[in-house]
Amino acid sequence: MTTTRTVLVTGGNRGIGYAIAQQFLAQGHRVAVTARSGEGPEGALTVRADVTDAESIDRAFAEVEAELGPVEVVVANAGITRDTLLMRMSEEEFTSVVDTNLTGAFRVVKRASKGMLKARFGRIVLISSVVGLYGSAGQVNYSASKAGLVGMARSLTRELGARGITANVVAPGFIETDMTDALPEAQQAEYKKNIPAGRFATPDEVAKVVAWIAGDDAGYISGAVIPVDGGLGMGH
Ligand code: NDP
Repeated sequence: MTTTRTVLVTGGNRGIGYAIAQQFLAQGHRVAVTARSGEGPEGALTVRADVTDAESIDRAFAEVEAELGPVEVVVANAGITRDTLLMRMSEEEFTSVVDTNLTGAFRVVKRASKGMLKARFGRIVLISSVVGLYGSAGQVNYSASKAGLVGMARSLTRELGARGITANVVAPGFIETDMTDALPEAQQAEYKKNIPAGRFATPDEVAKVVAWIAGDDAGYISGAVIPVDGGLGMGH
């Protein structure tokens, strides 16, 4: 039997975030998702928030707290890519990706930590990427933002670990979502050649790992980077 928790997933209207919300719902938890547009899965509370805007995050948390109680599990999933080679990358292309993927996670986690500290319990899961540690040409902005999440989880672990709060990173490889659908077919085939598993994963395969790391059985794991990448990033 797992304890029923209140869970908030950012960017839960599609892709990996949607699958994560579905997985927590299937396990009987109280689930809310943030969305800028669209809705989370049936059974989840959808609240509006943009992770680049701290006030909208605060409003979203207040709404979730009023409806479902204090947030005990937070999954910082919202993320964007704006790929281009370094020489062509504008400062705005760099900072906007960092603002969403890294500072966005900071804003969400900071707001979540209030209730977690009071409850002396919390599970923080940051959705990074294999390229955070592996690197990727054309993704200096994205990989920097995703590597930053590792330092964040480890600092959070040191700061909050004694209060019953864990902070972990899940680092997916290539997952079948809008983000990877946007890649040209030839590039997708090329990537698959380098993945030991020989395929992309489904969002569900990431969601199950996220639910596990946030669950009762994983209470002594913190500051870890858990790859869900078919072996692509082995060695980090
Ligand atoms: P999608 O592009 O399918 O979805 C991205 C989600 O993030 C959407 O819900 C989107 O909301 C939300 N989002 C983006 N910007 C903001 C913002 N400023 N405020 C609030 N929400 C925002 O992505 P995936 O599902 O593929 O990716 C989810 C996470 O997993 C991301 O962090 C991504 O970097 C990571 N990841 C994905 C991989 C993949 O292969 N797909 C591999 C490794 C990591 P909206 O619909 O409103 O735009």
